[in-house]
Order: sequence, then C-alpha cells, then structure tokens
Amino acid sequence: MPRLHVVRGPTLDDPVTVLTGVSDKTEARLARLGITTIRDLLLFFPRRYEDFSTITPIAFVRPGVKTTVRGRIYDIGAHQTKYKRMALTEAILGDDSGRLRVVWFNQPWLARSLHKGDEIFVAGEADLNGGLVMKNPDHEKVSLRPQNVARLVPIYRETEGLTSKWLRPKVQSVLPLADQLDEFLPAELLPRRSFMARDEAVRQVHYPASAAQLDRAKERLAFEEMFVLQVAAQMAKRARKALTAQPVRFDDSTARGFVNSLPFKLTNAQRVAAWQILQDLARQQPMNRLLEGDVGSGKTVVAAMAMHHAAHAGFQSVLLAPTEILARQHADVVQSLLEPFQIDVGLLVGSTPASARKPMMASLAEGQLPVLVGTHALIEEGVQFRDLALTVVDEQHRFGVGQRLAVRQKGERIPHFLSMTATPIPRTLGLTLFGDLDISILDEMPPGRRPVKTGLVPPEKRADAYDFIRKQVNAGRQVFVICPLIQESDKLGVRSATQELEKLQHDVFPELASRIALLHGRLKSAEKEAIMSSFQRGQVAILVSTSVVEVGIDIPNATVMMIEGADRFGLAQLHQFRGRVGRGSEESWCLLFTDAEDPQSLKRLQAVVTNKSGFDLAEIDLELRGWGDLAGYRQHGKDFKMASLLDAALISDAQTEAVRLLDRDPTLGGEPALRRQLSAYRQVFALD
Ligand code: ADP
Ligand code: MG
Repeated sequence: MPRLHVVRGPTLDDPVTVLTGVSDKTEARLARLGITTIRDLLLFFPRRYEDFSTITPIAFVRPGVKTTVRGRIYDIGAHQTKYKRMALTEAILGDDSGRLRVVWFNQPWLARSLHKGDEIFVAGEADLNGGLVMKNPDHEKVSLRPQNVARLVPIYRETEGLTSKWLRPKVQSVLPLADQLDEFLPAELLPRRSFMARDEAVRQVHYPASAAQLDRAKERLAFEEMFVLQVAAQMAKRARKALTAQPVRFDDSTARGFVNSLPFKLTNAQRVAAWQILQDLARQQPMNRLLEGDVGSGKTVVAAMAMHHAAHAGFQSVLLAPTEILARQHADVVQSLLEPFQIDVGLLVGSTPASARKPMMASLAEGQLPVLVGTHALIEEGVQFRDLALTVVDEQHRFGVGQRLAVRQKGERIPHFLSMTATPIPRTLGLTLFGDLDISILDEMPPGRRPVKTGLVPPEKRADAYDFIRKQVNAGRQVFVICPLIQESDKLGVRSATQELEKLQHDVFPELASRIALLHGRLKSAEKEAIMSSFQRGQVAILVSTSVVEVGIDIPNATVMMIEGADRFGLAQLHQFRGRVGRGSEESWCLLFTDAEDPQSLKRLQAVVTNKSGFDLAEIDLELRGWGDLAGYRQHGKDFKMASLLDAALISDAQTEAVRLLDRDPTLGGEPALRRQLSAYRQVFALD
C-alpha cells in the first residue's frame, strides 16, 4: 500500500500530487473527476458498493455469478500465451470444499507478489471453460482489514485510465486525515439527532464496517448538504424581508386596458400568473418570483403586462436577456405591446454605439425612459435608474443570480424581481432551492399551436430523413441540427459539431455546403451573434450547433429540429430543443436520431415522441437519471453528492433545524465552520 512520503504531515489542502503514485498524468485524470486536493479525494464519495462480504465455499461457486472466495494458493505461475503473446498468471486456489482455477491476463507481476501458501480472497465471476475458471478477479491477501474484497467495496465514478481499484488505496491512505475535516453542524444538533461525527461518517462512507454503519454515514452526509443549503436559503429569506421595494399600486382599469389591447386572448394560465405578479408588485416587500413555462407558452406578454403596470404608475422596469439577439427580439415584442400606451422602450446592448448610449443613459437616470431591454452587458456598464421598480430576467440561470443585485438604483429600495425560465423546475424544488421563491407556472399553450411532429430515426432510416430535410430546405425552410458532446475532453463541443458540419457539407448535402453554418462554444459571442443573425435572415439554411450553445431564438421559418445522439440528452432538454421549431404557420418536425438499441433508452425517447409536456418529461428524467440533467440546475448551486432533492423528509428536517439555529444565532456568530460552508451559496443567494 502506498505511504505518504512527506516530512510534515500532509494537510487537506495539499495537492494530490504529494501522494506517492500520483504522477502528472494521473493528476490530470484526477482533475477530470474534480479532485485536486487531498480534501477533494477524501470527499469523493463512492457511487455504489459491491458487496463482497459473503464468502462462498469453492464447491458452491457457480458460473456467471459474482462471488467472493477465500482460499490458499496451491500453485501459481506465469507464462505467455502462444497466441497473441499475452502474459498469463495462473493459480490454483483451494479451501475445505474444493479447488478453483484462477487466471489473470497481462498482470505478470502477480506471480511475484503472490506465493504458494498465501491465503487470499478473490472476487469475480467464474466461467465454464473446460472446468470452472475465474478470470481477472479482484484479489487481496487475507488480513484483518480487507480493502478490495471480502467486504462492502466502494465503487467510485471512474474516468479513462482511473479505476476504482486504483482509487481505493489512494483514498484509504488519506482516510486518517478525516480528523482534520471541520465539523460544521452545530454541536448540540449531533447528539439530539444522533448523527455520526463528520470524520467518522467520511471514513464509513468509503469503507463501511457494515451496511448499518453505511446507512448512518449516508444519513449524516445527506443531512449536512441539505442543512447548509437550507441555512443559506433561510438567511436569504430573512435578509430579503428586511428590504423594501417600490410598491406599484394595482389598478384594475390599467390591467384591463392592457389585456384589451392585445391581438389575442390571454390563456388562463397567463391571467393567473399576471394577477399573481401584479399583486406582488403592490407590496412593499420585494417580489421574488419565477415564471415558468414551456417554450412558446407566452411568458413575454406576462412580463410586458407587469412592465406596463409599473410604467403606468410612473416607475421604470428593465428586461434582461442572455444574448444580444434575444434582447433585440424582446425589445421588438415589448415595444409593439406597449406602443398603444405611448410607453417608450429602449434597447441597450453591447453593440449599441456610444452616440446612442449616452442620451439613453441620461434619460434612464432622469427617469424619462420607462422601459429598458438589454443584455447583461448593460449591467456591467453600471446603468443608473431613477425609479426602477421591476427587474425581469429571461433564462436567469445563464446569468448567475447574483448579478441581479447589480441592477440597482441609488437609495435603499430594491426592485421587484421576476425571472422567467423554460426549465421545468417543480414547485417543491423551487422552494427548496431558493427558500423563499414564489412560482407561477404557465401550464397551458396559447390556442391554435400545431404540435411539432416528433419521430425517432433509427440508423436504417437515416437516409430517408436526410431526403426529407433536403426537401424542406428546397421548399425554403430552415433546419437546426443539434449534436451531443461525445468526448469529455470536448467540453465546448468544438470537435463534435465540427465533425457533424463536415459530414453534412461533404457527404450528405454537398449542394448546400455554403448554406450550412456552425455554432459551438469556442466562438466569441460576436461570432455567435453574426451566425445566428444570418440564420435569422435565412442566408443559412442548416445550422449545426452543440447543446452548449443555446439557440433560444424565434425563427418561424425553421421547421426541422434534428437531434443527433438523442439518447444522450435529458428529456426536458430535448423538449426545449423541440420548442425552437413550430413557431410559424408551417408544419414542423423534430427528428430524434439515435443508435441506441437498449429498451430503456428507446422508452425514454418514446416519451418525447408521444409529445408530453416539459414537466412530465422532467419528471421522467428525474426518476431515470436524477437531477443532473435538468438544464440550469447545476448553475444554481453546488451539486449534491448525498442528499436527494426529492427526499421530502430530509428537506423538512433540514429546514426545521436551519430555522431553529437562525432563531438562536441569526448571524451565525457561534458557527464559524458553518459560515465557511455557506460560501458555496454566497453567490446564489447573494449573501453578504
Ligand atoms: P415564451 O414563453 O417561450 O417566451 P413567447 O412569450 O415568446 O413565449 O410567446 C410565444 C408566441 O406566442 C409569441 O409570438 C406570442 O405573441 C404568442 N402568444 C403569447 N400569448 C398568446 C396567447 N394567449 N394567444 C395567442 N398567442 C400568444
Ligand atoms: Mg421567451
């Protein structure tokens, strides 16, 4: 087993390279798993365990069943296979009940480290191969503290070139350092809830003494994660309660005037959401509301109605979009909605020339411009408002929540805050994550929208699908092609999108080569904007893009959404891609390309084909794949390793304890270790 070769004892903050056996190459691999320090390694929890704790007598070993055997080595030797020249180590193990042949491929050193007469555990599956043979089993010499076999063995998340087997001794060597971990749960809470101490929990979670101890360790670790989140959320809630906003008096005839001016009738869901928002605006306490609805459910009108109300009462509002193109689009829409009321709408984006910017900034500061639409670039400019009553942010998760505070005005009042998203976040989760976030949901589509026809394209239908796409383009329509990230190293999707582009330009649609464009994460935002706008103008017929580049834009002429490797995406995400088409008068299609053959993947994709709502799909995702896939969730906070966001009892316990603690110690003066933990949420909740 590797030993730590450092003179002073290593500390949790030391890099993993202080451990023997961690070369530059392994350092890079560990980094891929998010492990750079010893602390990271210690807190890299197993994904699951293999139960090798039951020892099977050799006579009962059956082919094809994972088994652990304890036996003495009767014979061991190494030789080369004639064919392919592989190094083969072969041993005969025996116990009271019988003998078992064991072979290892390409591990010639085994014949030197294992000797005749040694007692070892082996764990693996036996095959029938002219008698029972166990191939490449995990093995370990019998000792009082088995590490790899004969116990609950941790299985870690692996990456290319880094196996659980490699990680185990590394983790084991740093386990004693768990003593140095901060205990950040309040001292009185541990005995009251009979929780394990933190160091003990960390040790047990890697190498549980028993299944019962493992449960207790997990319980404690899940609680601490949820508890920190709940403390942060409760602190944010208390802080917000202390702030005031500009009340915008609710006026029935103003609301009616807006609704009557619309070229369509609001859906019921829009009416309810608008009413909730207008009620919030009338309060002195700042609104903190999330407006959720599928792509196309009509969130913009609801926001415009709130902005109209604010303007009518003499206050300013601002609407922030994640990209310049979206900001322009919003500005057009909002302007046309507010035009009948002579309410001016300004647009401020990165490319707004200084000559236009200066007078606009002045009229914002003087309170003459009631409505501003822009990108976050404008926040960086430090725009000053005179009477900002309402901030609306579209697809907030791409901003970072903290930025909303940058949109401030002089004085102590903060604006009401509305964020809009197409990510289906169930109500309970919203409450959990944000503590005090109110949610309005548009669960109804405006009438007359034709559903997007969705189909699964197996490999043998690919050529037909391309013919179909060609016909659409020849008929003047446009096409999105989304490609998945295939390699971990291709984080920005440069490679996957480039390959797709080349395939389409050279092999599939050579006649359209000049009208196929590429969008990926390496492009500068100005380049992205330029490509999007030529797609918008129709010069580009086929837009190849990775999922990392959000194409959240209205292109009514786009009728086909083609998704490569559809099985690699979350369902809610596929649904959002689908929402990018079907916005015009023509029939639209979403084509899910997949090579997947396993029933589970096909069943998932079938759910998208049968056209479920984003919420239904998000729930299916949750059950099958967990939270990680819900777009945007990760940006809201750190990932949970242990806690489940669906565990209602855990959430409520953690919330109760958080409230209890803050009632006793509102500033956490007595909990310095807990305060340090809160830093992970500082930005999310804008804690100061
Ligand atoms: P999203 O929720 O995706 O932001 P938008 O606000 O962009 O949706 O609305 C999508 C389209 O639906 C817009 O063209 C808008 O004018 C239209 N729309 C919104 N509400 C209604 C409605 N109640 N009836 C008919 N069309 C509507
Ligand atoms: Mg929108």
